[in-house]
Amino acid sequence: VCGISMDSHHEKKPHAICIPVPAQGHINPMLKLAKILHSKGFLITFVNTEFNHQRLLRSRGSDALDGVPSFRFESIPDGLPPPENLDATQNVYDICRSIQENCLGPFKTLIAKLSESFSPVTCIVSDLLMGFTIDAAKELGIPAFLLYTGGAGALICYDQYPNLVDNGLMPLKDSSYVVNGYLDKVVDCIPNMHGIPLKNIPPFMRIVNPGDEFMVEFTNTQLHKAKTASGIIFNTFDDLEHDILTTLASVFPPCYAIGPLHLLEKQLVDESLASIESNLWKEEPECLKWLDSKASSSVVYVNFGSITVMSHQQLVEFCWGLANSNQPFLWILRPGIVSGESEALPLEFLKETSSRGMMVAWCPQEQVLNHPSIGGFLTHSGWNSTIESLTNGVPMLSWPFFADQLTNCWLSCNQWGVAMEIDNDVKRDEVERLVIELMTKEKGNEMRKNAINRKDKANEACAYPSGSSMISLEKVIHKLQTFPK
Ligand code: UDP
Repeated sequence: VCGISMDSHHEKKPHAICIPVPAQGHINPMLKLAKILHSKGFLITFVNTEFNHQRLLRSRGSDALDGVPSFRFESIPDGLPPPENLDATQNVYDICRSIQENCLGPFKTLIAKLSESFSPVTCIVSDLLMGFTIDAAKELGIPAFLLYTGGAGALICYDQYPNLVDNGLMPLKDSSYVVNGYLDKVVDCIPNMHGIPLKNIPPFMRIVNPGDEFMVEFTNTQLHKAKTASGIIFNTFDDLEHDILTTLASVFPPCYAIGPLHLLEKQLVDESLASIESNLWKEEPECLKWLDSKASSSVVYVNFGSITVMSHQQLVEFCWGLANSNQPFLWILRPGIVSGESEALPLEFLKETSSRGMMVAWCPQEQVLNHPSIGGFLTHSGWNSTIESLTNGVPMLSWPFFADQLTNCWLSCNQWGVAMEIDNDVKRDEVERLVIELMTKEKGNEMRKNAINRKDKANEACAYPSGSSMISLEKVIHKLQTFPK
């Protein structure tokens, strides 16, 4: 992948080193941002972990990483022992701990190597949760812009942790508080999030499970570092989170909402980068053909993203909920989605749904959500899935699993009117009832209208030249190009 040579033409261009958190939901938006910067004249070095580099080579072939001479890929070790196979779901806590402890050295070495043999690195564009890059930027005297890959609403919750502690709301006194109704309490001390119940605040702040305390410390450290960055970039758009963004801008460095990145990418990035892709699993595009055979807005799309794991019993409840709803469905069952137990689906379920259900391991989600046959999305409410669904006018059922997903779920259900929540203790009757409501009833229709309205606003935000995201992007480009002095 390397084979780099000094090129005097390259030397005149700004050179951004882009580094995502090594997880699918972070790599995708960072790659889009990198491509957009490339379209604006930047040289790009995109840094994956060695493990993910191997996975990309496997799932996409070397085309995915060959790119063009001005858009290159590099890798650094994540410091973890190699997982047993390339499909393994890496533990988020382990990754966070390891990158914090191990990545600064290899990252600085890489920057030095690039500056010597390719082109001087003029700016760092890093995931907000990769705070060590701020240390590198300071040492090297170059600016660091941070991409926050979640929604602004989640960031404000993280930032308010000390306030929740001062108000005696978090951490929980003990784990019995999880089940005694305490989490239904409405929190009124988080700006712009009036009415949010405690249960929709990122759950590791409760500090009841192993690793929670570390995650709180980790997040606080990253936020602290982020406050010294040159700017924060969000994959959201002004119309969706205006007030929250305004509040964040008063405590963080300048904030730029330049999303949805996939819409800006479509407008700005040309064919020369089309082969550069970021899926860590091998896509099964046959599902698009299957969707072609279905009626408009008739299919429920089910996908819980790259990190969610569930028990076998929860899987079975989803199976029978979907089967009993009688709606056609496309269900993406990632290898490893069932934790430590059998992933086998009930034979009766397979028999009963064979004519109206399609199951694959991984799909091109943006194309699926953009397909006219999709009528609703049963999702874990990861931020990318949320914004991809909204910008395709697709209403959701939300079964959040982790961290910001609970906050995204609350915003989707209560502020934007585009989703309904499924209880964490999922039961087949509830799935059946909500799927029917989503696909065939007035409530589903209303949510679809609200989603279509957001889709229009997202398109307006990305319109050239005066959409809010386009304007913010130009400001980011200007700042990145003029540094360093
Ligand atoms: N994705 C995909 N195909 C799949 C599942 C997911 O392309 O079968 C993409 C999806 O479009 C999104 C990302 O993977 O961009 C998942 O990010 P999200 O924030 O929704 O969830 P996470 O995986 O981080 O929990």
